[in-house]
Amino acid sequence: MKQHYSILIIGGGNAGISVAAKLLLKRKTLDIAIIEPSDKHYYQPAWTLVGGGAFDIHKTVRPEASVMPKGVSWIQDRVEQFFPEDRKVQTLSGATYSYDWMIVAAGIQLDWDKVEGLKASIGKHGVCSNYAFDYAPYTYTCIKQIKPGQTAIFTSPSTPVKCGGAPQKIMYLAADYFRKKGILPQVNVHFYSGGTKIFGVPKYAEALQKLVDQYGIGLHFHHDLISIDGANQVATFLVHEADNREHKVDVPFDMIHVVPPQSAPDFVKRSPLADAQGWLDVDQHTLQHKRFPEIFGIGDVTNTPNAKTGAAVRKQAPVLVENLLALMDHKPMTASYNGYSSCPIVAGYGKLILAEFDYDNHPMETFPFNQAKPRWSMWVLKKYILPWLYWHRILKGTI
Ligand SMILES: Cc1cc2nc3c(=O)[nH]c(=O)nc-3n(C[C@H](O)[C@H](O)[C@H](O)COP(=O)(O)OP(=O)(O)OC[C@H]3O[C@@H](n4cnc5c(N)ncnc54)[C@H](O)[C@@H]3O)c2cc1C
Repeated sequence: MKQHYSILIIGGGNAGISVAAKLLLKRKTLDIAIIEPSDKHYYQPAWTLVGGGAFDIHKTVRPEASVMPKGVSWIQDRVEQFFPEDRKVQTLSGATYSYDWMIVAAGIQLDWDKVEGLKASIGKHGVCSNYAFDYAPYTYTCIKQIKPGQTAIFTSPSTPVKCGGAPQKIMYLAADYFRKKGILPQVNVHFYSGGTKIFGVPKYAEALQKLVDQYGIGLHFHHDLISIDGANQVATFLVHEADNREHKVDVPFDMIHVVPPQSAPDFVKRSPLADAQGWLDVDQHTLQHKRFPEIFGIGDVTNTPNAKTGAAVRKQAPVLVENLLALMDHKPMTASYNGYSSCPIVAGYGKLILAEFDYDNHPMETFPFNQAKPRWSMWVLKKYILPWLYWHRILKGTI
């Protein structure tokens, strides 16, 4: 196998595949390789609906080979180390690849181990999570098993997460499920978040607060989940108080939907490409690495201060492609990413708030109506249109 590529892409997820496809649409003779260890490609945004029993899990996965753009060399391996001074990477199998240009698109790491007891109890004892293909279907099992008088807990960590709305979306689906079954007033639904507010954009925060009130959900901020005792169904939270003191609190549950703490992948964290927090250190507008001009970053792995979503990737990809091609042509970079991200917040079955906003948390709505209002049409977008667009247009680089 070749050991040198003009463009080496690390990660063949949402960002890596769409950026490769876009590059080849612009210049079909480009010499591109993607290093991606997984033989499966996932459409993660649908896992929320899977957890709510409204989407088939098998429709969220396809063979990686089937999404690999024609003309790209797929190296099925895992990058272990970057040597940016030498323009090289080393993989788990011990191979070394060199490049003229590199795009890092390795996503975010789920730190399941950071919550004591989580790995041992997930998938049983009412402990579930939509954040993994293997566990998402069990969320719906847990929701269906809840009875009057029982407690359903939903968590969100204080770390950055992919799709900041996802910890809440499943809670609104669950609450709506209990409402339809006529047991909502007798079920204790609680949101425990390590964050400080319900949502960063005031317009959507207001709409979500209304939902929380309608469903009668208890809100608890500054609460980070630190351990789970599955057999006894008790969750322990570290509570951060205003005067910087901390204490622990035990909360019994009948079901708990856990969003694990998240961080940059370890191999990025320990590399010369990382910022002080471990994220890939790129310019938030050009997406070029701050110290190595031949390196770009895209998607969840970077330190751009936008909400980490596939929607953000869709707006980053054309900027990266334009800037990279400009540099290859010895021209200045002119494309700029404005921090656009979008979060389709499922408000219940058949109801969705489509939050869209930029780096400054200003709404950037696509449709000519108030998107903070839960709508059936936006549910249709999430359930039917976006999955189709993902497989047929976004991964093909045509939007
Ligand atoms: C439950 C849930 C709900 C979501 N809902 C939405 C939503 O409604 N809307 C939305 O826009 N987004 C949503 N997202 C977020 C969206 O899925 C991500 O933001 C998007 O996938 C980011 O793309 P990415 O390419 O950066 O990361 P990924 O798509 O995760 O891809 C990263 C790739 O890098 C690979 N990789 C990792 N380590 C290495 C290595 N060492 N070497 C080589 N390759 C490596 C991985 O195998 C993976 O294929 C949701 C996510 C989840 C989990």
